[in-house]
Amino acid sequence: MKIDLRSDTVTKPTKGMLDAMLTAQVGDDVYKEDETVNALEERLAKLFGKPKALFFPTGTMANQTAIKLHTNPGDQVICDKDAHIYHYEGGGVSFNSGVSCKLLEGNHGMFTAEQVIDAINPPDFYHSPLTKLVEVENTANRGGGSCWDFEELKKIRTVCNTNQLGFHLDGARLWNALVAKNETTQDYGQVFDTISVCLSKGLGCPIGSVLIGDENLMQNAIRIRKILGGGMRQVGYLAAAGLYALDNHVERLADDHQKAKEMGVVLQSLPFIKKVVPVETNIVIFELAEREKEAKFLNYFSEKGIRLSGMGSGKLRLVTHLDYTDSMHDYFMTVLRGVKL
Ligand SMILES: *Cc1c(COP(=O)(O)O)cnc(C)c1O
Repeated sequence: MKIDLRSDTVTKPTKGMLDAMLTAQVGDDVYKEDETVNALEERLAKLFGKPKALFFPTGTMANQTAIKLHTNPGDQVICDKDAHIYHYEGGGVSFNSGVSCKLLEGNHGMFTAEQVIDAINPPDFYHSPLTKLVEVENTANRGGGSCWDFEELKKIRTVCNTNQLGFHLDGARLWNALVAKNETTQDYGQVFDTISVCLSKGLGCPIGSVLIGDENLMQNAIRIRKILGGGMRQVGYLAAAGLYALDNHVERLADDHQKAKEMGVVLQSLPFIKKVVPVETNIVIFELAEREKEAKFLNYFSEKGIRLSGMGSGKLRLVTHLDYTDSMHDYFMTVLRGVKL
C-alpha cells in the first residue's frame, strides 16, 4: 500500500470530477467568454456576499494579486512570522509589489488585534514604511492547520477601519476552518476586503484558486492577473472541477479532520515525540525529542510505503486528504502505534 501524507495537494481528480471536466462548456476566458469559469466566479462571489470573484491558476498568484491591489511599492504588510506569503511565495511580496512584511510573533500562526495596533507605523512618520495591509491565514498552514477565533478577526477589522488598512485573507484552507468551526462564507465576506480560496487543496481539484473581493479593489485584478501571466483560455475544464468540488467535497473534510485528530492522539502517547501541535483540522505537526532522529523516523515509514514531510529541526508534518482512505488510515495507525526509534 502506498500512502502519501505529505500534503493535501497530492490528490488526483475522482471519476465524478473528471466527468464534470470532460462535459464542461468552455470559451476563451481572456475574453470572459468561458461560461463555466463565469459560473464558478459568480457562485463564489455570491457565496461570500461579494460583488466580484476571479479564477486563478494558483493560490500564490491570487495572494500576490491581492497584495498588489492593496499596496504601492514601499508600503508594508502586517502578517504572522509563519505566513505563507512570507515563507512560501518565493519572495513575491517584494518581487511583485515592492513591499515589506512586518512580522508578528503569533501563536500557531495567529495574532491579536492588540499586536496589529502595535505594529502599525504612524502614517505621518515618514521615516517608516507606510502600513497598508493586514494579512491573515485561515487555517494557518505552519500553525498546524489552526483556526482563527472569528471574534478576533472582527476586532482586527475594526483596527483596519480605524487606520485605513486593507484586510486580506489567505483562505487556501478556509474550507477546513469553515467545516471545523461551523462558520459561514457570508461571515468571512463581511470581515475581509479580499479573500483567496484554493480548490486544489482539501477539495481535490487538479488546479485552481479564486480571489473574491469588493468592487473598487477587484476592478484592477484582471489586469494584475494578466501581468503575472495568469490570463488563461478554455479553462472552464478546470473551473468545472471546482464547481464539482464545491458540491461534493466540502462537507467530507470533517472525515479528514477526524483522521488527523486520531493521529494526533497516538503521536501524543509516543515517548520519543516531544510535542504535537494541537490538531484542529487536517494538518498534524509534531516534533521529535531528538531532532537527529528525523531521517531515521522518515525512513521507518518510507520502508512501509508511507510518505510524510520533514520540516527541518526535528519537526514533521502529516496531512490527511481526499485520497487517504479508511483502509489506508487503519494501516497507518497500526504502523504508527508500533513505531520504534
Ligand atoms: C497552498 C497554499 C497557498 C497557495 O499555494 P499554491 O500552491 O500557489 O496554490 C497559499 N496559502 C497557503 C496557506 C497555502 O497553504
